Formats: sequence, C-alpha cells, structure tokens
Amino acid sequence: MIQFVILGGGYGGTTVIHELFKGHIPSDVQITLVDRMPFQSLKTEYYALAAGTASDHELRVPFPHYAELQIKYGEISTLDLNNRLIHFTEGDPLPYDQLVIALGCTDKYHNIQGAQQNSCSIQSFAAVRNTYMKLNNSKPYSNINIIGGGLSGVELAAELRESRPDLNITIIDRGSRVLSAFPPKVSGYVTKWFNEHEVRTLPYVSITSLEPDLIYYGADTIPTDVTVWTAGIQPAPLVQQMDVRKDPQGRILLNEYHQIPNYPEIFVCGDCASLPFAPSAQAAEGQGYQIAQITSALWRGETPKLSSIKLKGTLGSLGKKAGFGLMGMTQVTGRVPRILKSGVLWMSKHHIG
Ligand SMILES: Cc1cc2nc3c(=O)[nH]c(=O)nc-3n(C[C@H](O)[C@H](O)[C@H](O)COP(=O)(O)OP(=O)(O)OC[C@H]3O[C@@H](n4cnc5c(N)ncnc54)[C@H](O)[C@@H]3O)c2cc1C
Repeated sequence: MIQFVILGGGYGGTTVIHELFKGHIPSDVQITLVDRMPFQSLKTEYYALAAGTASDHELRVPFPHYAELQIKYGEISTLDLNNRLIHFTEGDPLPYDQLVIALGCTDKYHNIQGAQQNSCSIQSFAAVRNTYMKLNNSKPYSNINIIGGGLSGVELAAELRESRPDLNITIIDRGSRVLSAFPPKVSGYVTKWFNEHEVRTLPYVSITSLEPDLIYYGADTIPTDVTVWTAGIQPAPLVQQMDVRKDPQGRILLNEYHQIPNYPEIFVCGDCASLPFAPSAQAAEGQGYQIAQITSALWRGETPKLSSIKLKGTLGSLGKKAGFGLMGMTQVTGRVPRILKSGVLWMSKHHIG
C-alpha cells in the first residue's frame, strides 16, 4: 500500500483531500490526514474569536469525511526525511511514501526581547482561546496594544472596538501607516475608521523589548495591560527545523510541482511553501488544488499540466458593518467588501470556491 499522508488539515490540506477524492483514488493508495485538532479551524476568523464576537464553535468545520480517508490526531514533532517517518510528541511514528506538509505558520518575534513571553498570539486555535480570555477579562479602560498594523492586527483592533467600547486600543507599527501592503487610499480609509472609533494608531514605533506591563521603544515606553502580537509570521516549527533550501522568510523552496527538489515525494502547501505571493488562505487553497491535480496525474503515470495560481484579491473587515479590500487593481471600501467577506467565509465553511 502507498501511504499518502497530509500533515495539517487547514485551508491547504483539506483542499488537497477534497480535490483528490473528486477523482479516482487507486486501490493501492491509502490517504491519511494528520492534525492536532479534531476539526478544521477557520484561521481567517481568529480575530473575531479573540475579540469575543464569534464563538469557538462557529469557527470549526468538520474535517472531510470519506470512507477511504483515515484521520489521525496528534502533535507532530519531527520528520525523518531519510527513513520517511513522522514523529509525534506521543505514540509511534507514522511511515509515509508520499507526504504533503501543510502545517501553516506561527509568530515571528524578530529576536525582540520578551516579545514571545509577554504578548498574546492569534496564530493557533489554542493561542487564540488564551488571547480571548486575556482580552475579555480585562477591566474597563485597560490598555490593549496590538503590535503590527497588517491585515490581522487591523481586523482584531476593529472587532475588539465593537466588542469592548470601554477599552483603550492602540495599534503600533514601525512603518508610516497601517496596512502598508495595501494602496494608501485603502489605508487612509481604515485610519479614518479608527479615528472615528477611537482606536489609536502609532506609526514609526520600533519595539525594542516587551515586559508584562510596559512596551519599550528605545528610551520610551508605552503602558500595557494586554499586548497582542500581529507583527510577523514564519512557517510552523517543524518546517523551521528542516534542513532544506528556504527563501528569506523561511518558506521551503519548491520545484514547479510544489515538491522539495531533493525529496520529490514531499509536497509543501500554504504558509510553509515559498510562493510568489504573500501567505494567505486563498494561496493555500490554490496550491492545494494543484497538488491534488499533480498527484492524480502522477498516479495515472501522466505528466501534470498546470496553469498559474490565480488569486482573487484580499478582503478585510472593520467590525461587522464595514470593510476594505483589493480585488485585482480595484480598491473597495465600505459595506460592500464586508458583505463580500461574509460570503467568502460562508463558501469556505461549505468548501465552495
Ligand atoms: C487573523 C487572521 C486573518 C486572516 N485573514 C485572511 C484573509 O482574509 N484572507 C486570506 O486569504 N488569508 C487570511 N489569513 C491567513 C490565512 O489564515 C493563512 O494563510 C492560512 O490559514 C494558511 O493555510 P495553511 O493550510 O497553510 O495552514 P492552516 O490553515 O493554518 O492549517 C494548518 C493546520 O496544521 C495543523 N498543525 C500545525 N502544526 C501542527 C503540529 N505540530 N501537529 C499537528 N497539527 C499541526 C493546525 O492545527 C492546522 O489545522 C489570516 C490569518 C489570520 C491569523
């Protein structure tokens, strides 16, 4: 039996599975999904769980259910590339013949002293539950500082403002404006929304260290009750440990079939993969789709035919009634992108797209 194992049942991993099962699975192939969680969690909505406006249950999607699909729950610790073994923190290793690594990402702290110990994370379901507790147990008028004014920091700040009007919320960024990856007009719209809703934005602040109740930047400090880290990501720890070629962001360099060149039995998908665009759920799904097409073609003994991955754009929310986005070259702000984002979430929950 050929053991085809998928590590991580997020946006990338579940897409690979759904696409594979749409086609013919050879009778000598066993497909197994491995994840630490008993369900897929919708990471793009973690900001709402952290802010207390979405429940834990709303962000869960059952893993794909197919009679021939095996699912194993466990915390993956290391990979033995030479012996083709997956090791877990508990229990026996799992052998593989073909592998998809789709383990997502974790925070990157840029060697800032105290950052990991003294900030909350929104990069894993377990971490978001802790962040939710810290934010929502905060006393009225607490100082909440969100470090990093990218998409996830902006969405969290806005959602938290709607959830807790009493809190003093600040977004700190080392750049000149929030949403630096978006055009200035979109960023300006978001800054105006923050001004109107009393979310403070602090540009040009490069954090040097964090303590439980103080944020240091050079000789200056900012008092804090809860600090949330949204200032950088890197591939999952297992990928960080792997001795293979990577790009400057630590993502694994791949060949045209999304395989590791020296280990063609291993595909890498989503936030762990070096792609020509920023990590996103959309990119993970687009790549997952292709990995399934490639695998099916290889099983049939055919040469895979691929077109390039096409991304539709990025949408962000400012609470429940406003949003922003970039669809190709078109900039959108206001109620329409918020409605579109809700539609995308619904499609994601129902695996349509
Ligand atoms: C707040 C926020 C908002 C976002 N908004 C958007 C958006 O609007 N649009 C967009 O396209 N992207 C958005 N993103 C980014 C998007 O969520 C990620 O790019 C996407 O989840 C990557 O998919 P993936 O399949 O690579 O990994 P994931 O979806 O993160 O899946 C990884 C899976 O691996 C499992 N796993 C990880 N490590 C282990 C281990 N050691 N053992 C066992 N299992 C493990 C996890 O449980 C998880 O199920 C957002 C991210 C955040 C945090």
